[in-house]
Amino acid sequence: MTSRSVGYFGALLQWVRRRFWHSMPCGDDHSLRRKLLIGTGIALVCTGILATSVIGRSLDDYRRARQNLSGLESYRLILDAANLLSAERGPSNSVLGDAGVTHGALRERLTAFRAKSDAILDRLSARAGVSPEMLAPTRMQLLEGRRQVDHVAAMPRADRSVADVQAAIESMFQVVDTFQSVVAWKAGALTVSSPGLAAPVMTGRILGELREHGGRIASQIMAPIAVSQPLQVKHLVDSNRTRGRILELWRLTGDEDVIGRDNPRLAADWRDVQRMFLEQGLSLVDGLVAEGRISGRYSMTADEFTVRFVETLKPLERLRGGFLDAAIERFTVLRNGALVTLAITIAITTVILGILAGLLVAAQRFVFGPLMRAREAVIVLAEDRPTVPYPEPHHATEMRRLFDAIEFLRGRVAERASLTKELKQQAETDGLTGLMNRGALDMIGERHGSRAGEDAACLILMDVDHFKAINDRYGHLEGDHVLKECVRVVRPMLRPGDIFARFGGEEFVILISGDDLTGATALAKRIRTVLEAHAFVLSDGTALTVTASLGVAKGNLGQLAWRQLVEAADAALYRAKSDGRNCVRHSQPLHPTLVPDLPEGPDAPARKAAVLR
Ligand code: GH3
Ligand code: MG
Ligand code: MG
Repeated sequence: MTSRSVGYFGALLQWVRRRFWHSMPCGDDHSLRRKLLIGTGIALVCTGILATSVIGRSLDDYRRARQNLSGLESYRLILDAANLLSAERGPSNSVLGDAGVTHGALRERLTAFRAKSDAILDRLSARAGVSPEMLAPTRMQLLEGRRQVDHVAAMPRADRSVADVQAAIESMFQVVDTFQSVVAWKAGALTVSSPGLAAPVMTGRILGELREHGGRIASQIMAPIAVSQPLQVKHLVDSNRTRGRILELWRLTGDEDVIGRDNPRLAADWRDVQRMFLEQGLSLVDGLVAEGRISGRYSMTADEFTVRFVETLKPLERLRGGFLDAAIERFTVLRNGALVTLAITIAITTVILGILAGLLVAAQRFVFGPLMRAREAVIVLAEDRPTVPYPEPHHATEMRRLFDAIEFLRGRVAERASLTKELKQQAETDGLTGLMNRGALDMIGERHGSRAGEDAACLILMDVDHFKAINDRYGHLEGDHVLKECVRVVRPMLRPGDIFARFGGEEFVILISGDDLTGATALAKRIRTVLEAHAFVLSDGTALTVTASLGVAKGNLGQLAWRQLVEAADAALYRAKSDGRNCVRHSQPLHPTLVPDLPEGPDAPARKAAVLR
């Protein structure tokens, strides 16, 4: 794994850590999310290592295939250049054997060939990576060869010696020989960089050399033909040596089954070479050699020989070109295959990494997120905080069931809360009158006010006079009715903040906040007056007059103070009873002017008698 890829994975793990780890409840080493994160992290790293190695290998394969292909294309260009440099000898030889420089068609052909050679040498620098320095000797030799060709061609034909023509031709041989260093350099570089290229490089080179020697064998006998002289021993020796070399090279190419194994077109070219070059072409040379050995009178001119012989070289050029084309095609397929493998590897890796990342995000979104919200919801329910049912956007069955269960729990909790509230209300309410009962009143009384000064309170204790007699005379139910009627009459006289409670039996309490004993006493007196004046109608239509005695006290709320306040009010009530009932008494003396002098009822015993009558 390269250091760069380690860096990428480090960054990825950091992101995962930031995105998921920190949102976890702290200190929970056993959380499922942490385990999943660790597992996913390991899977990510393993996938990363695997992917890096596989992608790296695919990338190497692709780079190598691309490099091989471009190397082979460059090599092909270099061999093409060698071929063109060889081919330039054809029109050069024609010009050397021509009667004069005025023969425009031959000169034009030579000019065209020279232009082609120059152009391909320029392309070598631009496209095959051959440096100008490496090409310089070839260019110089080419200049020299052309100079010599032009020099001899400029002479009248009768003045040209075999030696002149031979020197010019050999100078052109030198061009190709010099260029061989470039071919060898490229062939060596390719074979070293990729052993797989050795076979096409070697075979390409052999075919190139075949073309070169094919041309050379004609050029080697060209000088005497050009000047219509008999062949010298040197020409015979040279051409024989070249013939041997050609046959040797041809053997190295194998046979048509080897070179055209996968390509019928190459097999056809191979057969053409055999038939046209090795048979017809060499026979042409043999015929001229025979003529040259005898007389020096040749059956064709240098140009005619060149044109006919060059024709027999064409299958050789086709075979070389076709062979290199096939090799390039094979390496193009290899390169494209490597590219496809690389793309597939990258795509699969991306998909695997995407799935892992998606799993993490999905786990966060559809499992851990909802679990945390479910946890919150349960805590809120447990703490009895107000909750609203919140819809879960996910559709995972398990999560839906979890939230259904929470909804069920919420319903149960709400039901229980309402039952509790009802029970509490029942526990605090007097069943007969609907007023607050003694227990609830005591709880309020014993509780301190939330702010300073809020503890001050006045208490009115009211007791129905001779109630037992009502029960005895009219029955318990009618007694109940009287009690409820008392409540109905008194309640409208109270202010919203006043607490009206049943103290027990036929005793009632009014708790007023503040220390206004005068006001409380005035209220008590009003109540007494109103009750006395009210007609209590029983179920049989009997109208009763009911009176009550009221004791008023001022004090404070709080555990101890409440008892004292009740006792004080009770004592005042006791005094009211003692003073003959149907009157109001308070626990502390009041300023006379502050209390309205409400007329109190008639004498209590007399009243009782009236009621019972
Ligand atoms: P006093 O003027 O001294 O207060 O005399 P009293 O008869 O009113 O007082 P006493 O304490 O002797 O009698 C109170 C009666 O109230 C006794 C009890 O049976 C009756 N009582 C208590 N609770 C209820 C109730 O809920 N309904 C009815 N109908 N009677 C009740
Ligand atoms: Mg009583
Ligand atoms: Mg009573």
